[in-house]
Amino acid sequence: MEKKFETILLHPNREDKKPIKSKVTPIYQTSAFVFTDLEELEDYYQGKGNYLYSRTGNPNPDELGAAVAAIEGAPAGIATSSGLSAILAGVLAVVKSGEHIVAADDLYGGSFFLLKEELQNLGIETTFVSFSEYQEVERAIQPNTKLLYTESITNPLLRVEDLHQVVTLAKKHNLQTLVDNTFATPFHSNPYTIGIDLVVHSATKYIGGHSDVTAGVLVGREDLIAKARAKVVNLGANVSPFEAWLTSRGLKTLALRMKCQSENAKQLAKALLDNQNIEKVYYPFEQTNDGFGAIVTIKLGEEVDVDTFFKSLAWIKIAPTLAGVETTVSHPLKTSHRALPPERSEALGITMELVRISVGIEHPADIINVFTEALNNALNE
Ligand SMILES: *Cc1c(COP(=O)(O)O)cnc(C)c1O
Repeated sequence: MEKKFETILLHPNREDKKPIKSKVTPIYQTSAFVFTDLEELEDYYQGKGNYLYSRTGNPNPDELGAAVAAIEGAPAGIATSSGLSAILAGVLAVVKSGEHIVAADDLYGGSFFLLKEELQNLGIETTFVSFSEYQEVERAIQPNTKLLYTESITNPLLRVEDLHQVVTLAKKHNLQTLVDNTFATPFHSNPYTIGIDLVVHSATKYIGGHSDVTAGVLVGREDLIAKARAKVVNLGANVSPFEAWLTSRGLKTLALRMKCQSENAKQLAKALLDNQNIEKVYYPFEQTNDGFGAIVTIKLGEEVDVDTFFKSLAWIKIAPTLAGVETTVSHPLKTSHRALPPERSEALGITMELVRISVGIEHPADIINVFTEALNNALNE
């Protein structure tokens, strides 16, 4: 019988080659590995030995890459220094100077600037289009287009991508696909298993889950991951052994955390739907009964003073990130999407009244209570 998701998280089926059989993989906090003679060194280059130098490979990043590949149902994976470096490695594994990308216009801000500033300067053009209209995506495809790039659930408005459509379109035009699965997590969505070529995670978020690391993971087709691995090595985008170890430790509880956080998020979203001081609640209710992701975004009503609302959140802290076990809030317009030109944020619906909530594992009644009281407290007389 195939193992279930919760079991794969803890037992991703890696062969234990450690000389000392520790229950948990130790932290290989070393910059390099040693050899007893030239023969052993030669063995490494023939692909028989294990490790040489930590930038080119280390057991802790390897463990993390393999574990995320296992739960995504992908044949290969690589861990990197951040979500952005995983995206960079994934893009460069497919696209080179003179070629073209079609990307969703509501990508994470950092990803937008990577494409728009850095890659554009290196001769890689990107057209940003709304992926809510697949005809528009198709119209943006050029003869030199190589890659379609979107997110399975978008930030901060939680649009759920129809990945089957993306795969169909890519097949029709012979393109590769890259999907950022950070918000959905492998618990809710496995883009590789429906035909997406490369899946990327900011492991800083739910994969790590405890707001104590910056890391990324890229999983997908074996040939593309081999190319991405060369980019990570050549660009020096490797993750440190300790960060990888912490991330692997966090990953083991992904299923537990996501069950609880998604259920809490759904309950909070439902409670806020009924609150007359909220203009709109963004949450993908229609996807599954148990909740679909742990982010809830709300648009405060006109009668709510935004500053007072943020000051009235009791133990819930303002943090420019998401996905920890503690509930936090962020203000997209003034943080993650700050650098966007005003007309762009306006067009995307990212306004002053928009609040993104990353729901944690506290008791849902306490979470709901803080938001209800903050709303009452912030009403303009
Ligand atoms: C945070 C985030 C990233 C960037 O990840 P870093 O680890 O900060 O480099 C990319 N995509 C999404 C959807 C994110 O939320």
